Amino acid sequence: MATQIEVLATLQLMDQSLYTKTRAVAEGEGRVAALEEAVRGQTAAAGTARGELAVLSARQRDLEGRLAAAEAKMKDRRMRITRIRNDKDLGVAKREVELLKEETGTLETELVLVMEQVEGATTKVQGIDAELARLTEEHEREASELRDTLARLSTEIERERATRSQLAQTIDDDLRRKYEMILSRRGGLAVVEVRSGICQGCRMRVPPQLFNQIQRNEEVILCPSCQRMLFWRAEGEEASG
Ligand SMILES: [Zn+2]
Repeated sequence: MATQIEVLATLQLMDQSLYTKTRAVAEGEGRVAALEEAVRGQTAAAGTARGELAVLSARQRDLEGRLAAAEAKMKDRRMRITRIRNDKDLGVAKREVELLKEETGTLETELVLVMEQVEGATTKVQGIDAELARLTEEHEREASELRDTLARLSTEIERERATRSQLAQTIDDDLRRKYEMILSRRGGLAVVEVRSGICQGCRMRVPPQLFNQIQRNEEVILCPSCQRMLFWRAEGEEASG
């Protein structure tokens, strides 16, 4: 029959395992959420970049249309000039051709600028798409692995909680409450071994008389220095030599 302190030491191992696994689940869920968020953010960025490219492409098409129209008009006016016989009409037509030349020049300059912007926006979309593909792949691969791990951990946690609750019932209520209080106040370490007369929780030497009491393992004794529950294991004592 295990003594209460031995049961408490086992209970603490379970609590530590549960703590580690619960934290791993929280971290895993956080990582999955971060992966999803990264894909969502990049998808939004891809949408914005495509919108910018669409606006610039429409602008390019509009300029190309206007330039083609101006060039056609200019060609038409030049043809007409060859048929004009009167000086006044010739002057008007020539001025019109000059104005059209100016207009096509302005349109060409603007078109070159917009084409450069379209090229830049296209490169940007390609870069964002490549990063989105990488993030999507990363999410799919890592999230599926994480989901497997999380499912396994959740099953283990459930099983361990059931075992823990059964074990906890074999411990005296007051003692269990005391253990839980120390556990929460002392950084998840309530039951500590005494090795070579030294408390492994706070590294203080335990008074010899108390050490003798602890070795009998009959009652739960607290470390006078850190107030943790002291536990003595024969094989532990030998191992530490
Ligand atoms: Zn101590």
